[in-house]
Amino acid sequence: MRYEHTFAQSAVFLRQAVKRMGQQEAGLHPFSYAIWYEYVSGINRDLQIALDACLTTEGKLDDPTACALYYKHVADLDSKTALSIGDSVGHLVDQVADSATHAGDQASHYSDSLERWGETLQHPTNAKGAQPPPPGLAEILRGTRDMQKAIGDLQARLENSSREAQELRHEVARAREEALVDGLTGLANRRGFDLALAASLQQNIPSGPGPCLLMIDLDRFKRLNDTHGHLFGDKVLAGVGEMLRANVKGKDSAARYGGEEFAVILPRTPRGGAVGLAEALRALVAASRIKTGGGKQLLIGKITVSIGIADYVAGESAAEFIARADQALYAAKGEGRNRVNLAPRPQPAVVNK
Ligand code: GH3
Ligand code: MG
Ligand code: MG
Repeated sequence: MRYEHTFAQSAVFLRQAVKRMGQQEAGLHPFSYAIWYEYVSGINRDLQIALDACLTTEGKLDDPTACALYYKHVADLDSKTALSIGDSVGHLVDQVADSATHAGDQASHYSDSLERWGETLQHPTNAKGAQPPPPGLAEILRGTRDMQKAIGDLQARLENSSREAQELRHEVARAREEALVDGLTGLANRRGFDLALAASLQQNIPSGPGPCLLMIDLDRFKRLNDTHGHLFGDKVLAGVGEMLRANVKGKDSAARYGGEEFAVILPRTPRGGAVGLAEALRALVAASRIKTGGGKQLLIGKITVSIGIADYVAGESAAEFIARADQALYAAKGEGRNRVNLAPRPQPAVVNK
């Protein structure tokens, strides 16, 4: 990962970055945060040199310069980094929201105390109250009311900031979710799949079964596009996605791996169970129907899928695991398509004595 800082370190950089952001003209948006975080944490030497040069020539960073620096020196960041920036911004927003609420509470307590004090001065309950008001009391009360109004205004502004912070947090969460979901099928996209697979391998218990991985590719899909049009092809992809969603449940997860290829991760599933599910999915696609644009029914039996399966071998990387499932898929294609193929488990290396 691009950012290897601990929580405590990143909190220090966050504060420093926020301070530097506040001294510029550019908005307090994630682009600004990304460049200043990288600047203060010292992880991006080129950015530091470019940013220092901009400050020398321009004094303060404006929006176009901040965005240009972001695109030139940060935008080559990988997807995980983008998500982690989203998280950092989310934490920042949470902190601001917490501070706003806390300050709002304090202001409210203070306002109550002032009001009570004003009441006591105006309506004393002890015998001394019968005496004339001390000189300057009217002025003190007027000052008190002015202060109460100022505190009320401050509270309103704090509440506003808190609400904006919450909305921003939700937007970050929504953007994060959208970054993991495929627009056509609503399944996880490739990025979502990578994260799910990494999580599944991390949680894997070496002595238990699985995980198993299914790579599913539509057969002769180019021909279907050529015959019925790309839009109809999209409809078929959405239909297959729907079938996967309906039949892949619980801890199992389905994703659109890319183009006309899908993937299913089956944690803690023995290879026999994976073969059974793959065979059921294959048969389901082959037996399904979908309507063409003109309302005619096209047998989706003419559309089929080939499925490659790999069951995880302890110690192999995610890439090796995927490659074995892919090889099994292409073997299924080679054997005539519309079939399921299980990858052989790699043989342990023979040690010569
Ligand atoms: P095979 O059985 O060997 O997999 O043949 P194929 O035609 O399915 O494979 P090929 O890789 O030659 O072609 C894949 C086709 O999938 C070509 C591409 O236009 C189509 N495709 C990829 N993504 C989409 C998409 O989002 N929508 C539509 N309609 N078609 C897509
Ligand atoms: Mg295909
Ligand atoms: Mg393909």
